[in-house]
Amino acid sequence: MAVQSADTGRTTGTPTGTTGSVTTASGTVDLGPAAALSCRECGERFPLGPIFACTSCFGPLEVAYDLPLGDPEALRRKIESGPTNLWRYAPLLPVPADVADKPNLNPGWTKLVKADRLAAELGITGGLYVKDDSGNPTHSFKDRVVAQAVEAARAFGFTTLSCSSTGNLAGAVGAAAARAGFRSCVFIPHDLEQGKVVMAAVYGGDLVGIEGTYDDVNRFCSELIGDPIGEGWGFVNVNLRPYYGEGSKTLAYEICEQLGWRLPDQLVIPIASGSQLTKVDKGLQELIKLGLVEEKPYKIFGAQAEGCSPVSTAFKAGHEVVRPQRPDTIAKSLAIGNPADGPYVLDIAHRTGGAVEDVTDAQIVDAIKLLARTEGIFTETAGGVTVGVTKKLVEAGVLDPELTTVVLNTGDGLKTLDAVAPTTGPTATIRPSLDAFRAAGLAG
Ligand SMILES: *Cc1c(COP(=O)(O)O)cnc(C)c1O
Ligand SMILES: [Zn+2]
Repeated sequence: MAVQSADTGRTTGTPTGTTGSVTTASGTVDLGPAAALSCRECGERFPLGPIFACTSCFGPLEVAYDLPLGDPEALRRKIESGPTNLWRYAPLLPVPADVADKPNLNPGWTKLVKADRLAAELGITGGLYVKDDSGNPTHSFKDRVVAQAVEAARAFGFTTLSCSSTGNLAGAVGAAAARAGFRSCVFIPHDLEQGKVVMAAVYGGDLVGIEGTYDDVNRFCSELIGDPIGEGWGFVNVNLRPYYGEGSKTLAYEICEQLGWRLPDQLVIPIASGSQLTKVDKGLQELIKLGLVEEKPYKIFGAQAEGCSPVSTAFKAGHEVVRPQRPDTIAKSLAIGNPADGPYVLDIAHRTGGAVEDVTDAQIVDAIKLLARTEGIFTETAGGVTVGVTKKLVEAGVLDPELTTVVLNTGDGLKTLDAVAPTTGPTATIRPSLDAFRAAGLAG
């Protein structure tokens, strides 16, 4: 168990206990195997709480665990006999052991689709898979991260759930709050796609459009947290961010389990704030540490839209710092001009031998249609970015076509109809007669 000094509330010892509750300044918190928060930059430890930045160096905090090291075979069996949602990995997440009994949306365990027809078009021979997270309850990968934040919000006694969102997160928070019985009040840039706006509002919480970019929305939320108005509010991606981020690890767990407890060779992951990509890497590292997969090299590739490409621009220029941009792209779910985890994405791309690349809006639309036409999967613009970047990286000889490759589809095309509507529609509109059908040239 983590040891605290009573006056500062700081964690001073190395946690050595097993799964259980941790006593913090705010009382007893049961977040399962989560033992403390630790600074990603300097390693300083803090007790579990709704904090997100290191008080010594301002580095981001992440969850540190007492992982169930020991018999990997027993852990594998336990996971395999668990629920067919992300709670099968509860022993590796910051959630109480009885999480599956609480009211939540139970996301995860989405399909890993063997994409042979797409592989043939792209010239990939080593096996191509699409991890299809459009199958989550609110049709994006955000349900995974929100599910963790909800448990943290319960543990810390918050009554309102909130977020700054590029669209999908607002819907995921609205739905999760409705199901778990929280008030919700979420914030989005005012000019999002109708599909995102309607989905964020339909669950009955408050939805606020902010006149500005996502980065303006995020700044506003930081202000709200510091104000008495924000008391009792859990912002899933701000003051609950360390817990929220852990949800993305389940993508790594599922992909490996679905591949037969095997690491893929290459992964292509879209980047907004960079949290997902960073935590997928953390999840893969944990699987290796736990002995659940055999260690071998893997490469992580990041995908951005050219109109919001702060990370790929830095990668291609060989910079270590990510210079903020003002987004202008149809991939609005990825339109974060000042990505919090950008520098860590660069580290991971370099460390694993991957890369970060971007595609134009026209290439995004083409890639949405390519995935739809080859695999029957209708992705949103973010998936167009990821598939488009995959194509570009194969053509450039950066992605090895002979290796097993997993591409993440993080959202559903029904939420971004505008992207394809202008160039997609009926082949013909005719009178209900065979003559008219023949005349339209469609009789075969
Ligand atoms: C939020 C989001 C992402 C990635 O977000 P990160 O901030 O990088 O974790 C990817 N795809 C979709 C569809 C999203 O909504
Ligand atoms: Zn620090």
